[in-house]
Amino acid sequence: MRYLSTRGDPERRRFCEILLEGLAPDGGLYLPEHYPQVDAATLSRWRGLAYADLAFEVLSLYIDDIPAADLKAICARTYTAEIFGTAEIVPLRELEDGVYLEALSNGPTLAFKDMAMQMLGNLFEYELARRGEELNILGATSGDTGSAAEYAMRGKKGVRVFMTSPDGRMSAFQQAQMFSLQDPNIHNLAINGVFDDCQDIVKAVSGDLAFKRKYRIGTVNSINWARLLAQVVYYFAGYFQATSSEDRQVSFAVPSGNFGNVCAGHVARMMGLPIRQLVVATNENDVLDEFFRTGVYRVRSAADTHETSSPSMDISKASNFERFVFDLLGRDAARTRSLFETELGRAGLFDLGRDPAFAHAAEKFGFVSSRSTHADRLATIRDTDARYATLIDTHTADGLKAAREHLVPGVPMIVLETALPIKFAGTIVEALGREPDRPARFEGIEALPKRVVKLPAEVDAIKAYIAQHCD
Ligand SMILES: *Cc1c(COP(=O)(O)O)cnc(C)c1O
Repeated sequence: MRYLSTRGDPERRRFCEILLEGLAPDGGLYLPEHYPQVDAATLSRWRGLAYADLAFEVLSLYIDDIPAADLKAICARTYTAEIFGTAEIVPLRELEDGVYLEALSNGPTLAFKDMAMQMLGNLFEYELARRGEELNILGATSGDTGSAAEYAMRGKKGVRVFMTSPDGRMSAFQQAQMFSLQDPNIHNLAINGVFDDCQDIVKAVSGDLAFKRKYRIGTVNSINWARLLAQVVYYFAGYFQATSSEDRQVSFAVPSGNFGNVCAGHVARMMGLPIRQLVVATNENDVLDEFFRTGVYRVRSAADTHETSSPSMDISKASNFERFVFDLLGRDAARTRSLFETELGRAGLFDLGRDPAFAHAAEKFGFVSSRSTHADRLATIRDTDARYATLIDTHTADGLKAAREHLVPGVPMIVLETALPIKFAGTIVEALGREPDRPARFEGIEALPKRVVKLPAEVDAIKAYIAQHCD
């Protein structure tokens, strides 16, 4: 399998060449040259597999530069009951007739990002050891991504993590999750500023090519192809649990921000998994809902990006969206480049509303969308608690509300549960008047010793810290 860039760079790369990279050199995103096809006989064979074995089957269609035995061992090491809480890894439960919740949030940080990040941690360690190289991951987080990255990379050989976060602006639980890690290769940098300051610093440091090369700076952002690939697996696992034969279709409702999760669903569908609809659920930050309703993709300014009670979906632009547009336009790299580079740069938007390709988004690719508000989330959380004695988090509530707007009789609808309610306890208290349950292993974490360094919001301060802690 070779990988290409959505913006037309003629070079083709192998999996391990793009594993440690973010964007392609031309600013595009990596995609496989083609989607391997999975027929009914193969699906039927995969149906009975344990999650780690299913992961190996899916990944090995895209990775041919890691020996099969090694890849198999990496999958077996990653998807264990010990790390993900159950033998099923992503257990499915029926909430009401035809509507299911797929649990993706029982990993170390209680959000679905662990599903991909744990795999990434093991792939990084493997590949770095093979090359005899080291990598220093620099990131910015306001919550979920940073903790998922730290729990995936803790103790990994050859990898250090420098994670910036806005000092005092994460929830007490999120701070405790990250700052209680005592692993010497994990560095929490609390920046005297807001999240945007952290992101600007990361951009500035990564933009200094000499520094980047000297200190081998890398990232783990959501555009990384390996992360997306790992997420494809749980669409298959959800399908098998909701159906009993390969002639059935299912739909998925996906709480969406950067379009990574639902893009993995798109890849699964392109491989031939019988998915009827992919329901893109957004909150008040409805960049994606606007596109799927109108064909207009309009990125938002910082002032126009709302802080909501489903904060992991608070985005101004959807960094993975270019992958889908590339497929939507028949893989026309020149057009993709002109939309994302020229038009977005010039006007902050592009409009495919009158383009015949846009009609395909629903028809041929199965995409539909919905938007929800804070009031919708509260109502959905209350209703799900009252009727089913099931507590869901604010992001999953966005997904469930969207799912109900797109039900098709006879087609199971699987809502992806992207986080556990304890991560967003404030809104649960607002909805229900009580605190959500806390998994036993997180009991009292706020009182644990914290390993964090406070730094000013200055690029040079962060560079100096990295330089000092790189040997
Ligand atoms: C990251 C995240 C999302 C959004 O996922 P994307 O892949 O960015 O679309 C939704 N819910 C939770 C809880 C998240 O952490």
